[in-house]
Parts: sequence; C-alpha cells; structure tokens
Amino acid sequence: MAHKITLIPGDGIGPEVAEAARRCIEATGVKIEWDIQLAGTIAQQKTGELLPQATLDSIKKNKLCFKGPITTPIGGGFRSVNVAIRQALDLYVCLRPAKSYPGVKSLYKDIDLVIIRENSEDLYAGIEFEIGKPETVRLIKEITDASKKKIRLDSGISIKPISKTATERIARFAFDYAIKNNRKKITVVTKANIMKFTDGLFLKTARDVAREYEGKVVFEEALVDNMAMQLVQKPHNFDCLVLPNLYGDILSDLCAGLIGGLGIAPGANIGEGIAVFEAVHGSAPKYAGQNKVNPTAMISSGVLMLRYLKENKAADSLENALKAVLAEGKSVTYDLRWKCRRAGRNAHRSGKPG
Ligand code: NAD
Repeated sequence: MAHKITLIPGDGIGPEVAEAARRCIEATGVKIEWDIQLAGTIAQQKTGELLPQATLDSIKKNKLCFKGPITTPIGGGFRSVNVAIRQALDLYVCLRPAKSYPGVKSLYKDIDLVIIRENSEDLYAGIEFEIGKPETVRLIKEITDASKKKIRLDSGISIKPISKTATERIARFAFDYAIKNNRKKITVVTKANIMKFTDGLFLKTARDVAREYEGKVVFEEALVDNMAMQLVQKPHNFDCLVLPNLYGDILSDLCAGLIGGLGIAPGANIGEGIAVFEAVHGSAPKYAGQNKVNPTAMISSGVLMLRYLKENKAADSLENALKAVLAEGKSVTYDLRWKCRRAGRNAHRSGKPG
C-alpha cells in the first residue's frame, strides 16, 4: 500500500529542492501518494492564509509531511510558519544529524553528531510584547514590581518559557534515541549559570532523566558559549547534544558548517506518531528560481523519512546513491566546489591534534 505523505513545496528555493528530493525518493521504488499543500506567502496569495487549515488537516490525517523551507521576514511582518506548524502539531523534537560525507570539502572529516533540539518552548514560543504597546508597558511595570529590577519603558519583551514537562520529554527522547541508535553519549547544553530558572530547570530535569539511564548512556553537561568553541575545535569529542530551542537552532547551523554547509544538513520535527521532515536550511531567497542550490539536505531529509517509515532498504539505497554522487564530486552544486584556501594543511582534519 502506498504511504500517504503531505508535501509542502515551500517558497524561495523550497519548490526546487523539494521537487529534486521527491524524484529521488520515488526512484527508490517506495510507493507514495503525495498530497500537495500550500503554506507561507504562496498560500497567502492563493488562499488569504499563511498556514491554511487544509494544510494542517492534511498533515494531521497523513501523520507525515515532507516540507520545503518557508520564508519568515526578519523584524516586522508575520511570525514563522515553520514554528507555527511545529507548535500546532506539537512536534516537540527537532532532530538534526550532522554527518560527514566523503568527497564533501569541509574543515573536518568523520563528523557524526546528532542535535536533539527542544522544539516547542523557549524564546521561540512566540510570546512577544512590542515596544510602546499598553500591554507591554503594563507588563514592564508588573515585572519591575515583582523582581525589583528595572526594565526601560521603551523595551520590547520576549518571554522564555521552559517547563519541566517539555524538558522531561525531550530528554527522555534523547536517551531513548541514543540507546536505539547505538550512540554512546548525551551532552546537555544550556546557559544554566546565568538563567537559573529556565536553563537551570532544563539542566536539572535532564540530570534527573539521565539518572534513569545510568550505565546505559554517558551523560555530560556543557555551557552553550563554551560548547560553540569546543564544537569548532574538537567536534569529535561529542556524540548527541540535547538543547533548548534557541541554542539548538544556532548550534545546528554551526554543525552544518562543520560538515560542508547548509546544503548538506537534514532535519526532522517529530511528535507523538506524527512527523515533518525538512532541511536545516531556509528559503535562501537570493537563489530562488535559479535551480542551482544543493538539494542534498532535502534528499537526506528524505532518507530520514524513509527510515521513519521503516523503509530501510529504500533509505539505504538512497543514502548510498547520495554518498556515491558526493564522493565522485562531478554532478554536485556550486557550494560543494569551493577550494579551502589553506587546503592540505587545515582542510579535512581528522580530529587528531597537530
Ligand atoms: P538560509 O538557510 O535560507 O540561507 C543562508 C545561506 O545558506 C544562503 O544564502 C546560501 O548561501 C546557503 N544555503 C542555504 N541553503 C542552501 C542550499 N540548499 N544549497 C546551497 N547553499 C545553501 O538562511 P537565511 O538566509 O537566514 O534565511 C532565509 C529565509 O529562510 C528566512 O526567511 C528564514 O526565516 C527562513 N528559514 C526557514 C527555515 C525553514 O523553513 N525551516 C529554516 C531556516 C530559515
């Protein structure tokens, strides 16, 4: 029987990479019935809504979606449709593997990291108060009263909720994922020394969950600023990272940089029995319509989706085909043809010092 999957082409470079990936997924022979749905500015132009109910209903019905990137203007304009989809479907896990492929020029080789990012809370919860609005001024006064700390009246405010409930489920997912996938170590990454009641709670909750898995998976802790440096200098020291939403977003781009760039890095947003697969990268508007960007991240997200569907033979054949094309290096996009300026000396580090 064919798998029913909602397909959102997205905007910018989305439709190009989604189409390339769809063709590769179909070439594995797995039977799929695509239900094409709109979201983002394209949906707004056609239906008046950025995230039409029909799109959400389709994902809820099929329990699976393959999605191209969608633009979110910086500053003003609308909130992120990508975040709205994750919130509406309670896709609380953002899974972003960062794995080296032979032939892809990058600063290191043999990277094999997995970013497990909490996807529903933190500063991405979308609870924001605009400068000058009466409710913002009211909130500032209440916070000043309660905390005895001064906030300037001409401030905008973003709220950072982090709960025990959401942290427990992401930490448990991380440990179960590690065990199922034969991973050895989980590093929890926070700024708990500064934000004691949010990041501190995330860390304490992760520690409590870690105790349940003692002897099965190694658990360690890191501060996010130090982690950023360590990932650049010694990425081979790490295995799976579990992080709150914002740090997870930033460090997954950093990890994409370690393996050859955003054109390579796949992702999955997972909830209870429902998942949306998409690349780490965005809609790269300046390249839209040129059909030149790298579809590898979307194809690789397709590999993750096939594994989620337990279509392992198809996933292996697609991943092997991808590896072969990348290793050959002939039919690859512009981003994989860069020459490391200090080629030889610093390119392709194995993680060994010197
Ligand atoms: P981006 O990931 O779209 O692009 C940044 C740069 O990375 C590009 O200019 C390009 O040089 C490179 N790049 C990205 N994808 C590539 C690919 N497939 N092949 C080769 N090079 C690639 O990030 P941005 O410019 O910060 O964001 C653009 C828009 O995308 C914004 O509106 C942002 O909100 C949105 N966005 C959406 C998602 C999503 O849909 N999940 C994720 C991130 C950003």
